[in-house]
Order: sequence, then structure tokens, then C-alpha cells
Amino acid sequence: MSTLIKDALADTIHAPFWTDQPGAPAICPPLVASTECDLVIIGGGFTGLWTAILAKEQNPGRDVVLLEGETIAFGGSGRNGGFISGSLTHGLAHGEAIWPSDMNALVRIGRENLQAIVDFTTAEGIDANLSIVGKTAIALNEHSARSLAGMHALHQKWGDDTELLNQEQMRADVHSPTYLAGLRVRTGSGLMDPAKLSWGLKRAAEARGVRIFENTPATNIALRSGGGIAVSTPVASVHAQHAVIATNGFTPLLKRLKYRMLPIFDHVLVTEPLTSGQLSDIGWVENQGLTDVGNQFHYYRRTPDDRILWGGYDAIYYRGNRTEKELERRDSSHRLLATQFFSTFPQLEGMRFTHKWAGIIDSTSRFTPAIGTAMKGQVAYAVGYTGLGTASSRFGALAMLDLLAKRSTEITNLTIVKRKPFPFPPEPLRYPLVQFTRNQLAREDRTGKRGLWLSTLDRFGLGFNS
Ligand SMILES: Cc1cc2nc3c(=O)[nH]c(=O)nc-3n(C[C@H](O)[C@H](O)[C@H](O)COP(=O)(O)OP(=O)(O)OC[C@H]3O[C@@H](n4cnc5c(N)ncnc54)[C@H](O)[C@@H]3O)c2cc1C
Repeated sequence: MSTLIKDALADTIHAPFWTDQPGAPAICPPLVASTECDLVIIGGGFTGLWTAILAKEQNPGRDVVLLEGETIAFGGSGRNGGFISGSLTHGLAHGEAIWPSDMNALVRIGRENLQAIVDFTTAEGIDANLSIVGKTAIALNEHSARSLAGMHALHQKWGDDTELLNQEQMRADVHSPTYLAGLRVRTGSGLMDPAKLSWGLKRAAEARGVRIFENTPATNIALRSGGGIAVSTPVASVHAQHAVIATNGFTPLLKRLKYRMLPIFDHVLVTEPLTSGQLSDIGWVENQGLTDVGNQFHYYRRTPDDRILWGGYDAIYYRGNRTEKELERRDSSHRLLATQFFSTFPQLEGMRFTHKWAGIIDSTSRFTPAIGTAMKGQVAYAVGYTGLGTASSRFGALAMLDLLAKRSTEITNLTIVKRKPFPFPPEPLRYPLVQFTRNQLAREDRTGKRGLWLSTLDRFGLGFNS
């Protein structure tokens, strides 16, 4: 390891940057006595919190209990990159390929959903630094640069405000010697502080009377003989008319969900705050989110206190769907990220990273969540946002509430809700297939050639992504 990387990572703490700040609400006590309610929600990330809030808004008299196995903001919702996108389809190209006839509705509902989040945070006074600044997709090689024109045309077709940038323009905007071209998309997405959004949603749920129990993992879910659902926890249980499973990539309580998604570990670094000199060395005055174009991509952004959050690239699947906390520590992934950071911004040599962490991305073979019901329609689930769930989790919540109420709505009639993603094969086949697919994706990034395996998966609308 070079001295540069060693020094940069020497004092880095292993903790998500976002939750390592003041402002967290008091932790709710765990469930110690059995209770009854109308709706029990398992998981207190964005999906669970939005479900709780929307359930109360739809029917304020409904008694809602939320069980969180750790604390609010523990999962992806408190440790993500803070990019927020209106897309419900993992991008326009993917949406057009898989759900062409629903795309008008999907794009509109996605935009309405993002706007509803902006409006809600404003109305509730949630200071999550949410701003719709858009993003720039950056080409680092010739074949990616060639692909930008098609992306530009697609965004324009769907009414986005976009601008193609040549090498000179791209480097003038954000100063990196690695950039060959870019696509600035000014609409449809933005940035926010995920921990502050989680904490704000928690306060909003509590204000509406949702009963939240933290450090309360659900250990079992079952139909009750007399009707309704029983959810067990280590000390007590909850009896409810309906239940929602919002546990993302963590080991699901329903066996069927194990086949619908892969838990993928994604890694992140955050630097110390940049000095004014360092800020002028990199440009980046619009403060938009940045990603590079490719299968193995980085996402990066500035934080409100002018650090750089730098994540992505190394998406790691552990054999057997493992999700233990120990797996968050993978020094080689953080070293790789640090090395790539200094290649992108050599002018920041000497900069140190203050935070490093990893988190679980729940990837489906379709890159969009599996949404559905189980146990005679009394349990709903929405898992598998595949790295793009900070806004679409609210859509998942709306869909689950419609499904539980047996309402036939525009949302429940979308194919993306009606059809589940194709299951992944079980182990021992799963691990080698994932590794093989990752290698093929890396090969495409190097060569620009999609290859037979990936083209075959495309034909069936299947894949692996983070
Ligand atoms: C490193 C990283 C970066 C990401 N970057 C972005 C990004 O920039 N933009 C974007 O849109 N998306 C991003 N994502 C994805 C995004 O964070 C998720 O899609 C989104 O937060 C999902 O919300 P959720 O509520 O479904 O899951 P989570 O936030 O993971 O919440 C699930 C909760 O369920 C709890 N739980 C699990 N099992 C149980 C149980 N048995 N009982 C009780 N509770 C349980 C967990 O403790 C957890 O709090 C990223 C994810 C990661 C990991």
C-alpha cells in the first residue's frame, strides 16, 4: 500500500458519517410487553417510516406499531450516498426496456413521489438538506463517452433539462484529469442528508401517534388461528390485523424473499472538510451529485460541510446471503476506493478520510423492488430497491398500503408491482453465478463490449447491479 493511501486512511473511523452527527431523536425503548394493533411494520428505514406515516395519514385512527431491530437510520436509510432520484425504474433506459407500456405512468408517478417527499420535508420542517440539484454522469473512457449522446436524447425525450459536456467543459466544471465527457442532468434528482431525513421521518411518525420500538428485532411472523398476524420478538409479541415487511436486504422473515434478492455490500469513504483552497482546486460550484458511467461506478458528492463522500465500485456478495455486521469491515475495498479517489483528484493529495463504512444494498434481478403480499393478503412486503431506494421507498410504502387494503389503484395495476423480479438461483449455484456476472460486467467496463452472457441476461430482463 502506498504511503499516500496509508496516511489517508490512518485515522479513519469505521462509522457512517451521516449518523455520526448530533440531532438524533431519543431512542425509543424496546418492546417489553405484548401488544395489539391494526398494522405492525417490521423495519424502520425509509420504507417502514413512510409506510407508518402514510398509514396514519390515510386513516389517523389506525393503531400502528413499528419494530426496528437496531435503531432508526441503522440500515441503508442512514448510511447511503444521499442521492435522491425520482426514478422508479432504475433509470429511463432500463424502464423503457422492461416496462415500455407503463413508462408514462412510471415516470409521472416517480416525479410526483419525489415532489411529495420535498413537500413533506418542507411542511414538517425536516432539515435534511434536500435539494433537487440533479447530477452529472461522467465518462472516463471512450466507449462511455460515446454512450452519453444516447442518454442525453433519452432524458430529453422524457422532458429532463440536460446538457452534454465535452472534455473541456466537463473538466472546467469539476477539475479532474480523468474526465473525458459528461452529461449534466439538472432535473429529476438531488441530494439530501439521509440520517437527518430518517430522524425527521421518525419524529413525523411519532407525532402522528405511531408507536415505535427500537432494538426490537422481529424473530418470526405467523398467521394466527383466530385471524390476524402474530409477530414475535425476543421478549414479547405483537398481534395485528396486517403486517408490513420493510427489512431491505437483511435476512427476510419470509423465506420466499431470499430468492428474490441478493444482499450486496457497498463501501463508502468521507474526507475531512476541504479548505477554501482545495475547493477552488476542484471547482464543482453547482454542488451536484456525480457518478461515473459504467457497471462498476463511483458515486460522489459534497456534504453540507464541504467534505467529499466517495462510494461505490466494489459491490461484494458473500456466499449464502450473509449479512453479519463484521462483513462491513473490508479494508481492501476501502483502500481501493481511496486509490481511485486520488487518481480522480490528484490535486487533493494529502487529504485524509475521516469516515469509512459499508452497507447492504438489496439487489433484485430486475433492479427494482419485489412488492407483494403473503399470508392470505395480510402481510405486504417491498424489498429490493437495488441502490436506488431513497425516494422509491415511499412508492413501495404506497403500494403496500393499497395491497393490504385490497384497493385496485393505478399503482397496484402497474406491472412493476404485479410481477415479481425473477428469482436468483439458490446456493451453491448463486455465488459462482454472481461472481461470473461481476467479471463480465467488469470486462464490459474495460472493453465496451457487452458479451454473450450479459446480452443473454438482457434478453430476459435480468441482471446484477448495486
Ligand atoms: C452504502 C449505500 C449507499 C446507497 N446510496 C444510495 C443513494 O445514494 N441513493 C439511493 O436512492 N439509494 C441508495 N442506497 C440504497 C438506499 O439506502 C435503500 O434503498 C433504502 O434506504 C432502503 O430503505 P429500506 O427502509 O427499505 O431499508 P433500510 O434502510 O435498510 O431499513 C431496513 C431496516 O430493517 C431493520 N430490520 C432488519 N431486519 C429486521 C427484523 N427482523 N426486525 C426488525 N427490524 C429489522 C434494519 O435494522 C433496518 O433499519 C444506498 C445503500 C447503501 C447501503
